[in-house]
Amino acid sequence: MQCFTKAGFCQGEKLAANADLSAVAKARGIDFFLVAFVDLRGVLRTKMVPSSAIKQIQRDGAGFAPAATWLDFGPHAADLLVMPDASTLLQVPFSPELAVVMGDCFIEGKEVAQSPRAVLKAQIAEAQKRGYVLKSGVEAEFFILSAQNDSISDERDIQSKPCYDAQSMMRRYALLADIVKTLNACDFGVYQTDHEDANGQFEINWHYRDCLTTADQHVFFKWAVKTLAERHGFRATFMPRPFSNLSGNGCHIHCSLWSGEKNVFEGKESISDLALQFLGGVLAKAPSFCAVTNPTVNSYKRLNGAATASGYTWSPNRVSWSGNNRSHMVRVPDNDRFELRLADGAVNPYLLPALMMACGFWGIDTKADPAKCSFPANVNMYEIPDGSPKLEGIASLPRNLIDATRALESDKDLSALLGADFMRAFIKLQKLEWADFSAHLSTWELMQTLDC
Ligand code: ADP
Ligand code: MG
Ligand code: MG
Ligand code: MG
Ligand code: MG
Repeated sequence: MQCFTKAGFCQGEKLAANADLSAVAKARGIDFFLVAFVDLRGVLRTKMVPSSAIKQIQRDGAGFAPAATWLDFGPHAADLLVMPDASTLLQVPFSPELAVVMGDCFIEGKEVAQSPRAVLKAQIAEAQKRGYVLKSGVEAEFFILSAQNDSISDERDIQSKPCYDAQSMMRRYALLADIVKTLNACDFGVYQTDHEDANGQFEINWHYRDCLTTADQHVFFKWAVKTLAERHGFRATFMPRPFSNLSGNGCHIHCSLWSGEKNVFEGKESISDLALQFLGGVLAKAPSFCAVTNPTVNSYKRLNGAATASGYTWSPNRVSWSGNNRSHMVRVPDNDRFELRLADGAVNPYLLPALMMACGFWGIDTKADPAKCSFPANVNMYEIPDGSPKLEGIASLPRNLIDATRALESDKDLSALLGADFMRAFIKLQKLEWADFSAHLSTWELMQTLDC
């Protein structure tokens, strides 16, 4: 099945934030806009607006009932108005009459401080004050499932080490090619696609950008992957660990910090002293921010996870780092960036880079020293048993969502850095999630306890 209708499709010039979308619609043949925002649980919410109405929506905003989304508002709250940011416009290459535009959330003329894009923008403003831009690249792994029963869609994809397998990739080539063509027609700069370490799992890598662009792209990426998978008769999932015997979906983030054209993370042999302080902040705060990078009950089946069919989980269980070594929470693959391997597929695309800046700048301000969590490059972290003296002073990651949420709640630095509105709303939602999970009677409980 071919979903890609216009070969060589071109987006045209990047627009100004307040560009006239009605005129753009006429010039580019756009019939509909999806005016969209992401809530605190990472759900992409949208209104489909015909181009005849986009002028009015640009003036007044697209209206939503805030309590119907995960932003922590009651039913009595006034309308949530989403103001499109025209600079994010992407005309959808496989349905060119449709365009996606991300928006910012306002209620009664005031920006909603806890909305994830606002949380990121606040950190970007702080970076700007310091003369920096964070550039990031994300690796959002996903599974392609059967739309009928949520099993792995390719029944021949059964090797214990399926990573990079050419034949399994060819059986999903049509879908993957449609996704990559879509992204590249949207100027993502995709440079590779592979079958990942779990059966049915894939990864697509594109070029890093300033962190707001990457976050908006990350949102579009998840939407395009899911939409195209459905058009091809499959279902795509970014769920952190959908299969207990297979590696989960990570969402690594690579970070570098720029002052104009200069990457100030670049050092000689390894990353610079400034980058080490930034990294020191990220490492020190990881046990507290895990509730954000790993935001679901299921996330904790990936972290601290049981071994997989391929041999490794590829996910961390402790706060450690080293050079080019994938057994740690942070890897430094080059002398100009670091990679945080903690976050999973459920992470909010805006909150992830916001955390990097909040904790990184805190690390610079407090001269945080990452040395105490560093390991020599040749250590396999997965082989060090619990209780080993080598782990003295090395923090563990939370075991479950409620421990993670309590750690976040008790971190007063993070509250000051991320803002009280965000912390209150996010922690409340995470506690509700845990309460909902705890009230759920599982098959495991029945099996373990019926005969007690
Ligand atoms: P790996 O699987 O080895 O971690 P990938 O190639 O899958 O690496 O992903 C690397 C990501 O890092 C990409 O999104 C890439 O654009 C990004 N990246 C590369 N260099 C930088 C940099 N200097 N700053 C931020 N991101 C970077
Ligand atoms: Mg209505
Ligand atoms: Mg990768
Ligand atoms: Mg990967
Ligand atoms: Mg990686």
